[in-house]
Amino acid sequence: MIKGIVFSSILVFFTFPLQANANKEIPILIYHSIQEYKGTGQKELFVTPENFEQQIIYLREHGFTLLTFEQWEKRHNVKKPIFITFDDGYKNNLNVLEIFQKQKTAQFHPTATIFVISDFIGRTNRLSKADLKMLADSGFFSIQSHTATHPNLRETKNLSYELKSSKEKIEKITGKNVIAIAYPYGERDKKVINETKNYYRFGLTTIPKLYSETSIPNELYLLPRVYVKYSTTLEEFAIIVEGKAS
Ligand SMILES: [Zn+2]
Repeated sequence: MIKGIVFSSILVFFTFPLQANANKEIPILIYHSIQEYKGTGQKELFVTPENFEQQIIYLREHGFTLLTFEQWEKRHNVKKPIFITFDDGYKNNLNVLEIFQKQKTAQFHPTATIFVISDFIGRTNRLSKADLKMLADSGFFSIQSHTATHPNLRETKNLSYELKSSKEKIEKITGKNVIAIAYPYGERDKKVINETKNYYRFGLTTIPKLYSETSIPNELYLLPRVYVKYSTTLEEFAIIVEGKAS
């Protein structure tokens, strides 16, 4: 009898933490510009470098592990996994590199994924080819696709150009595999997802919730992301990443 109790307590002890980790909600954050807002564009798509740095310090001090999509399988084996993403490939994302370099420690290696619009590379206010190569080689960034021209993929007539050519162009610049795409405006449907599956392993939406494993079909092509905005306070940020929202 006692043996049985001891045995089942050991079983509970060992299986519970594993299950808790498997079902754990994982935040995938979405940002655009890391720069002080200067009056052009949508203010909420900007986060000041000061606020962003405080958010990174929060993640470091609270034991988070920042991952990129190449490391997807590692999510069960690390402490508090989180994905940070940037859409549109703005030049001001170079501020992120500076903050990552400043805040990294022996134990904390910040990383992020930048989703670039391949036909916009090198335009004013966008990252250049040289920037992308440098970021990809820095060890802090994964450069992935946000299509070729940023259309609504449900409506575009050039679906294969948007998906295939953007992947090839970015791979040529960075010399690294492009395995993930962020759908512009989060727009996708069955046809878009089926075509995406020919070229990518992951599709990212703007469904505003944390990721948790379900058995829905195409789950990896419907990854949710939560916005961090200009107005997001550090307290609100903590609630988002700790999975305590809603
Ligand atoms: Zn976009």
